[in-house]
Amino acid sequence: MPIYEYICEKCNERFSLLQSMQAREKDAKCPKCLSKNVKKVMSSFCCSSGLGNDFSPSIPSSGFTGGG
Ligand SMILES: [Zn+2]
Repeated sequence: MPIYEYICEKCNERFSLLQSMQAREKDAKCPKCLSKNVKKVMSSFCCSSGLGNDFSPSIPSSGFTGGG
């Protein structure tokens, strides 16, 4: 079960909820002020460590096309 992170727009409380995939955003509630005015935030699932730029532009060696 994924953990979703929410931010309360009322008191700016940041909390995480363990919800199923079918869970809706409206089911979330701020544990602090019990407000339902919360916004889902994207948790950083992707691991971003280091600046490894392994992408190198490779030019396809295609034949010369064109001509007049
Ligand atoms: Zn709140």
